[in-house]
Amino acid sequence: MLQVLPQNISNLIAAGEVVSRPASVVKELVENAVDAGATSVVVSVLDAGKTLIQVIDDGCGMTAGDAVLCFERHATSKIATAEDLARIQTYGFRGEALASIAAVAEVTLRTRRPEDEIGTMVEISGTSPARTQPVAAPSGTHIAVRNLFYNVPARRKFLKSDNAELRAIIQEFLRVALIRPETAFKLTSNGKEIHNLRPAATRKKRIQDIFGMNLAKELAEVNVDTSLVRISGYIGNPEDARKSAGNQFFFVNGRYFRSPFFHRAVCKPYEKLVPDDYAPAYFLFLETEPERVDVNIHPAKTEVKFEDEGMVFEILMAAVREALGKNDFTPSIDFDMKGAPDIPVFPRHADYSPLFNPFNPPSAPDVPVFPDTPQMTDATPAVPQAPGYGRLFEDEPAAANNLIVLQRKYIVTPVKSGMMVIDIRRARQRIFYERYLEKIAEQQPVRQQSLFPVTVRLSPEDYLTLLEQPDLTARLGFDIQDFGGNTVVVNALPEGYPADEEQVRRCIDELVAALKDDSSLEDQHHLLAASMAESAAACGAGSLNAAEAQSLVDRLFACREPKLTPDGRRCLAIVTFEELEKKL
Ligand code: ADP
Ligand code: MG
Repeated sequence: MLQVLPQNISNLIAAGEVVSRPASVVKELVENAVDAGATSVVVSVLDAGKTLIQVIDDGCGMTAGDAVLCFERHATSKIATAEDLARIQTYGFRGEALASIAAVAEVTLRTRRPEDEIGTMVEISGTSPARTQPVAAPSGTHIAVRNLFYNVPARRKFLKSDNAELRAIIQEFLRVALIRPETAFKLTSNGKEIHNLRPAATRKKRIQDIFGMNLAKELAEVNVDTSLVRISGYIGNPEDARKSAGNQFFFVNGRYFRSPFFHRAVCKPYEKLVPDDYAPAYFLFLETEPERVDVNIHPAKTEVKFEDEGMVFEILMAAVREALGKNDFTPSIDFDMKGAPDIPVFPRHADYSPLFNPFNPPSAPDVPVFPDTPQMTDATPAVPQAPGYGRLFEDEPAAANNLIVLQRKYIVTPVKSGMMVIDIRRARQRIFYERYLEKIAEQQPVRQQSLFPVTVRLSPEDYLTLLEQPDLTARLGFDIQDFGGNTVVVNALPEGYPADEEQVRRCIDELVAALKDDSSLEDQHHLLAASMAESAAACGAGSLNAAEAQSLVDRLFACREPKLTPDGRRCLAIVTFEELEKKL
């Protein structure tokens, strides 16, 4: 029998599209406040929004009638005709948000228009009919959303940790705050202030208020105007590029959007300036005729479709390249590019031999053949099991006086079958990786290198991430103290890190990036150890004396898998006498 769904059920279904987590409620409410012309928006959450999300604005408010009507589906004051849809100036226009939120939470609305004497209070929640009464209220709107998903236990169960949910809330909050520098925004969590953004005269000032002076003073301005699109905003110094995503923002016509495609356009000009999988900070504001872009393809509206995507890509890339060129940014660390040529060895015939058969390999290859750029994109930096393992020990390096350090990069040493070339940085990467993994597995924290305490100020998001798993970070060798106000004091770093201030910051950033990964526990430990090892190896590169070179070689060969870095690149290569003879 065919039946029209009762409205509370259809709202519940629709709610699934609009409201997936506390952050989506924050997004909708903050956008409504901005649409209402607020000059000040105050957001407070309890327990990452799971208990309470409250948004107070000083915008236009609502009449008693609208205060009830706004909870109906498709009730919107923002469009009346089909033409309006093409030229939307506001965030909202579907009239779905409040209906959806009320379907899955307990909502209290208090609102008053500036021109009215008395305000209205509406209490509404999924099951019961709305109750309304006149109240005294400041002008504007105050909306409180309690016990989100109280009636959808499955949803509630799927919410992440408070810190993860709070991070998502901060993201949504910032996406709006960045486009509206003239509006004051405040965010508190469990009574603690996370952001308090005063009205700012410029976007740059707003960026500075949010992300701190360090990042803001290094920004390069982007500005192009073409008939297709106008792009303005800022891109970060390559030195501030980070592994942890978070400081990347695209907006089109005043609306945040996500685009892996355009992200590539921005990153391309940075290619030679930052290590692989680092991304620069950017804040890019695109403007185009509303007809040229469809912001409506995704229910949560963070994906958009451009009419001339390819052209916009080119324009964006050129604009970023030009901005980079105008500021002579140079790379500060000596990074190991994954696409770069591997250890320079003489060509090995086994690599090309048409007779090569993986099931019947030619007798004892020196070093197993791995692609130079490993195609391992899996989350786990799997350690491929190397064939011919036994052979390596025959080829172990000889005594200390036979070690030569080349260009601070390689150690060369005779072995039985010829000579072995060890990539110092990669060797260190392998050594630290195994050390860190061991330490994570140990139960009590061991502190390594104490250092002159370094104070690091973080974004609120990164701050939360960093303090989320104190046991894990302590086992790795960190001594991190919470200083309050998004600031930590770093007293000790894991073994391998030099203690200079810039490196401490970099190290903390690596840690945050690795901790943000939502993989399973075991994967996370591997990832954490691998990425910390990579950055320790990158910053510690200096010259080695003979004893240090020897100790490095010894430690490498004490590893479980000395031949490969945790991400599968070769740590060493052997040039055989046979190959030498062919050369000479
Ligand atoms: P939409 O934003 O898509 O119109 P919503 O469900 O978010 O849909 O809101 C419905 C309507 O409620 C809005 O169109 C607006 O008229 C009114 N409204 C919501 N929030 C506010 C607010 N903070 N101040 C004034 N009016 C509001
Ligand atoms: Mg809305």
